[in-house]
Amino acid sequence: MVAGKFFHTGTPVVLWMDPGGYDAYRVERRFSPIDKSDWQTSTEEARELKTPNRYSLRRSGLSDEEIERVRGGGWDLPLLQRVVDQFVIHFDVCGVSRQCFNVLHDHRDLSVHFMLDIDGTLYQTLDLKERAWHATTSNNRSIGIEIANMGAYRSEESKSLQEWYGKDEKGRVCITVPQKLGDGGVRTKGFVGYPARPELIKGTVQGQELLQYDFTPEQYKALIRLTATLCKVFPKIKCDYPKNENGKLIPQKLPDEELNKYAGVMGHFHVQTNKTDPGPAFQWDYVLSNARMLLNGGMSEAADAASQGHMRAAVKP
Ligand SMILES: [Zn+2]
Repeated sequence: MVAGKFFHTGTPVVLWMDPGGYDAYRVERRFSPIDKSDWQTSTEEARELKTPNRYSLRRSGLSDEEIERVRGGGWDLPLLQRVVDQFVIHFDVCGVSRQCFNVLHDHRDLSVHFMLDIDGTLYQTLDLKERAWHATTSNNRSIGIEIANMGAYRSEESKSLQEWYGKDEKGRVCITVPQKLGDGGVRTKGFVGYPARPELIKGTVQGQELLQYDFTPEQYKALIRLTATLCKVFPKIKCDYPKNENGKLIPQKLPDEELNKYAGVMGHFHVQTNKTDPGPAFQWDYVLSNARMLLNGGMSEAADAASQGHMRAAVKP
């Protein structure tokens, strides 16, 4: 949902107004006992909650007149396309999306447009016209997604990794949702998640050597479709990630000047020095090259470039 309009993504998206959805517009806590969920009691019980709205208005780049118009709900797509030029990717360190919404909404006064659960279900919690609170200086201009994953650690002895990953009866590494979370709220009943690559992935982010299990194939599939859709709907979001002069991923925060100029897909660690998400396991080339294929009608960039001449000629009136 973008400025009140529906767009197809080719993968299931559970909206905040759908059954089973997560509604970031609501003031009440979502998971407290219902008689204690009201805003007043919530501020007493969850001290970090300071403001009933965990999101705000995208204002930067708008004239005073435009701000007056959009505060009345009057966003139109061309105006939003002018403002939004970044897609920021996070891991949630919560493991499953239900727990992610619990932490963001009931405890942290934060928000994010999309959550991507281990079974590949996408949840949208707010219209993309809203300024969600997920990436500090980039909130004004970005769309955010929290991908369910326990995150990256310095040691494989990490308690979270041991708690969340085990072996199935065939000895394959799988996600083991802790018993205290029940079924984790995962929409696909009985779903067992496997990292796209079975081994712990080692890599350097923000100058730290970190270990992380990969995301699930279901998550990659959904993310590729969503990325292609967002790059199509928002022409300023370049379907690429921050690269150095050798064409390799920049594995740390971008210098402020570069960050200001950057328009495209990026990690939270490109925005802030104190963040390492989406971590060393995230497969940038796989996601972005497949998203570009979808944008090019299922063709590789080379095939698309080679065929564009007569394709264009064919559609001319
Ligand atoms: Zn993050």
